[in-house]
Amino acid sequence: MRKSCAGSLPAETTSHETHTQPGLCPACGAMGVSVSIQTVQAMAAISLRWLRPTSYQFCRTPHCPVVYYRVDDAQTLTVDQVRERVYQKETAQSDVFICYCFRYRASDLRQATAAEYEAIIADIRAGIAAGQCACELRNPQGSCCLGNVYRALRDKG
Ligand SMILES: [Zn+2]
Repeated sequence: MRKSCAGSLPAETTSHETHTQPGLCPACGAMGVSVSIQTVQAMAAISLRWLRPTSYQFCRTPHCPVVYYRVDDAQTLTVDQVRERVYQKETAQSDVFICYCFRYRASDLRQATAAEYEAIIADIRAGIAAGQCACELRNPQGSCCLGNVYRALRDKG
């Protein structure tokens, strides 16, 4: 290899590195929650060759386009790079899933009466008790949806 080749390469630079603190979303600066690589592998709409075999962070900020990011090299997967629509990013949409395992949409909760809401929660709980949930593979946040379900109920007033 000719030495001049190396000379013509763009100089390695760190100027594009983000200045956020470790652990924070490189796009919005909020603290994400840790998700396992299995969740990212299940959700990624890009070649899994691009993923690193370590954990990623999940960004919950509604208007931030980043769904997953890595803390050490700021790699990101945005909403258009995941296979599932993300509840946290589309909370106001009625047709987005809130419970990905048992297929409840945000609209199901929004339109539910108090009794129907209770029935939905009972159904989700029964599914969890029966070991039928697969949150780490089906829910983009990689964990149980119940916290979001209760929060949606509280927000409903
Ligand atoms: Zn973010």
